Amino acid sequence: MSDKPLDFDTLAVRAGQERSQFGEHAEALYLTSSFVFKDAAQAAARFSGAEEGNVYARFTNPTVSTLNRRLAALEGAEDCVSTASGMSAILSTVMALLKAGDHVVASRSIFGATQQLFGNIFARFGIATSFVEATNIDAYRAALQPATKLVFIETPSNPLTEVIDIAAVAAVAHAGGALLAVDNCFCTPALQRPLELGADLVIHSATKYLDGQGRVLGGAVCGAKALTEEVFKFLRTAGPTLSPFNAWVILKGLETLKIRMQAQSAGALELARRLEAHPQVARVFYPGLPSHPQHALAMRQQQSGGAIVSFEVKGGRAAAWRVVDHCRLLSITANLGDTKTTITHPASTTHGRISAEARAAAGITEGLLRIAVGLEAVADIEADLSRGLDGG
Ligand SMILES: *Cc1c(COP(=O)(O)O)cnc(C)c1O
Repeated sequence: MSDKPLDFDTLAVRAGQERSQFGEHAEALYLTSSFVFKDAAQAAARFSGAEEGNVYARFTNPTVSTLNRRLAALEGAEDCVSTASGMSAILSTVMALLKAGDHVVASRSIFGATQQLFGNIFARFGIATSFVEATNIDAYRAALQPATKLVFIETPSNPLTEVIDIAAVAAVAHAGGALLAVDNCFCTPALQRPLELGADLVIHSATKYLDGQGRVLGGAVCGAKALTEEVFKFLRTAGPTLSPFNAWVILKGLETLKIRMQAQSAGALELARRLEAHPQVARVFYPGLPSHPQHALAMRQQQSGGAIVSFEVKGGRAAAWRVVDHCRLLSITANLGDTKTTITHPASTTHGRISAEARAAAGITEGLLRIAVGLEAVADIEADLSRGLDGG
């Protein structure tokens, strides 16, 4: 027997599990809000922290702790704190590590709610954010201020799949005395491990690929214990804690994460190639295609291109809507990360509330469609899209 560290595939199925006295094979689901103590002294010791153990599920729950250990193992992190949603993972990180007067630098093409959180909500509490062009490393450097405590990026971005050089941004952030947090939602640790590239924190919306089957909301923050410990202290006080039921669902999702990501990425690459050859398609955005501006970086930084493909239909909004409205198989929904393929028209939905000028500046054109490729046969997905593309 060697003590070689376990492979990712093995950790995804096994890491973090501790069996109870019943010897259950599957991970146990502990649906309990509180825990009992054997006597007054133990209660006192648990509350003071002198004795480790569960007290109340706003703090810890064994099913949630199993998920935390497994996700930490998959990200190569010292520790992980899971949260009620992806947004509460970001909220908890900022509330735990920043204070009024601090400054944030964030990539411009981040998830809409993340942009609102930094741009409007944190701003009201004295934490200002400068948004910079996602792929321009000099822009991050130029935006740093003495008060900058955090650099926040999302790569690949949504919906245009811009790829940001994590190692380069980490070097800039660290030179300026700031932490780098990476939202790893699109790639997951199966395809990209930001901590190995120099990031300090990885943020997840577990709602997407980690669950992978569109069932529950969840989030997580992974990183060094010195940082996650602070996130945990915020969480146990403020309460955006992950439900044990959701933790259990996500645990089962993690067991198939890598094979899903590989299969969905392979499907996305095939679909991207076919769309690129279609006469009604003006442009395809997919990191796995040689035509992608950051293709070389993506192939270095990621295991594959991921499962999100965006493309621009010739003919603007009318043509894009025709494609959407002729879909019989694809789900018309803004969600992603499901085994069922979804289609979104960003300009009228996820990016509908920003001004037309801001949308144009961000490259979200009226003909743009985003596909989150699931596990259906690529030929069936292509046929569904062709109905509207080929003239309706
Ligand atoms: C969905 C999403 C979030 C927010 O996660 P919720 O679980 O919906 O709160 C954050 N970042 C990215 C990239 C997302 O796609």
